[in-house]
Amino acid sequence: MRAIVVGTGAGGTTVARELATRGFKVVILEAGKEFKPFRRLLSLAAPLRKTGILGNEKIISRIFPSMNTIRSNDLVLLRGMTIGGSTTLSCGNIARAEHGLKKIGLDLTPEFEELEKNINIKDFPRKRWRPITNKMFEVAEGLGLKPKSTYKAIDPDKCVSCGLCELGCATGAKWDFRRFLDDAIREGALLYTSSPVKKVITENGKIKGVIVKRGFKSKTLKADVVVLAAGGIGTAQILRASGLPVEDNLWVDIVLTLGGVLRGAEQLKEPPMLWYTEDDGYILSPYIDILSHWFHKPWRNVSLKDRVGIMVKLADTEDGTVFAHGKVEKTIKDEDRLRLDKALESARKIMESAGVSGPYIKGMYNGGHLGGTVPLKAEDLDSMKPSWLPNGLWVADLSLAPRSQGMPTMLLAAALALRVSKKIVNCKL
Ligand SMILES: Cc1cc2nc3c(=O)[nH]c(=O)nc-3n(C[C@H](O)[C@H](O)[C@H](O)COP(=O)(O)OP(=O)(O)OC[C@H]3O[C@@H](n4cnc5c(N)ncnc54)[C@H](O)[C@@H]3O)c2cc1C
Repeated sequence: MRAIVVGTGAGGTTVARELATRGFKVVILEAGKEFKPFRRLLSLAAPLRKTGILGNEKIISRIFPSMNTIRSNDLVLLRGMTIGGSTTLSCGNIARAEHGLKKIGLDLTPEFEELEKNINIKDFPRKRWRPITNKMFEVAEGLGLKPKSTYKAIDPDKCVSCGLCELGCATGAKWDFRRFLDDAIREGALLYTSSPVKKVITENGKIKGVIVKRGFKSKTLKADVVVLAAGGIGTAQILRASGLPVEDNLWVDIVLTLGGVLRGAEQLKEPPMLWYTEDDGYILSPYIDILSHWFHKPWRNVSLKDRVGIMVKLADTEDGTVFAHGKVEKTIKDEDRLRLDKALESARKIMESAGVSGPYIKGMYNGGHLGGTVPLKAEDLDSMKPSWLPNGLWVADLSLAPRSQGMPTMLLAAALALRVSKKIVNCKL
């Protein structure tokens, strides 16, 4: 059976690996190119940062095409457009995010367990945490916030503590889903990069194939099964462009970092987010926000070595809209702002008690967990697909997750994709 898998992120690589192993003839279409960590220009750009000459976050996609940015009102949305998708930009955090699944009767425990066996998950050794990170952990404990070490897909022996996980790991210490892609290719799957899928083609309620752009030409590729795993925005774009319905239910897990100052803290000399606390649909976690450091005016006067940050990651209201040609409409709701303010107050308290001084300033509002545009409902679980999807067309990425998480989402995207793969295989039998 011929299968086309669109996208090579957490969802796409999981499906491609599974189908290739089960005897499908798999073709994988990826819009981006090979992934290369971003390092070389970093030192060259340092003197330019203070002048503001670097402009705004739009420049990122130009100098580092693997990181795609989309501005929607006061939010910057981030996604990986490359082999490995957003997982290449991840902080290596691993968690079972399950918010909203129980409500529809979906238990992904077997998939989480199966995936975790493939990922080398560890705590990052406490003795390599920066003193300020340790201090803030102790303060959070003292405040009764119950901080926990974050599980990491980072090999401490290979990690050089550069703190730049989101720009790609230069030493191979960080595990990402390109490993699943390698497995799929070993099983015979074919990968085409620089191949954005524009539409799916259906006939009499059945999938026929996709239209893909290769260079300046559009080509039709035929298949018996098409799996869309282009992420919460990419999958929605393809469906909309194909005249199929998508829900205005995009969520992004809003990220906002509060920055303070401590001379010589050097917080960047460790992987980001080594511990976290949870409350009211958000987490707090130590974090140096590189994007704010480079592109957010108020952050200009403090050097990287003196900057200390705590990130808020908030499960936001699911109400964003994706349009066919890439525009996204997503705002921060008043109720989300209220919860963000509460979380920032808690972050400020931790930093203050740990000896970090002001001025405390907010970073850029951003979001990189893009999901919810094809949300699963209780009645979809038998087939793991909404009933309006034509026969042979599947979605297998974070688009399926109905609710925002405020937690790491890579494992969730992969677990959903793994469950979908099992259904596809069953349909073939
Ligand atoms: C900066 C950053 C840090 C993160 N850190 C963490 C973390 O530490 N832990 C964690 O669990 N999660 C993290 N996440 C979130 C996590 O990476 C994503 O939630 C997860 O990868 C989503 O999987 P997906 O398959 O839905 O989409 P993606 O992984 O984004 O994959 C989508 C793929 O589709 C491709 N694509 C898009 N459009 C098309 C098209 N038209 N045709 C062909 N291909 C297309 C893209 O290039 C990409 O390869 C982070 C995200 C970001 C942006």
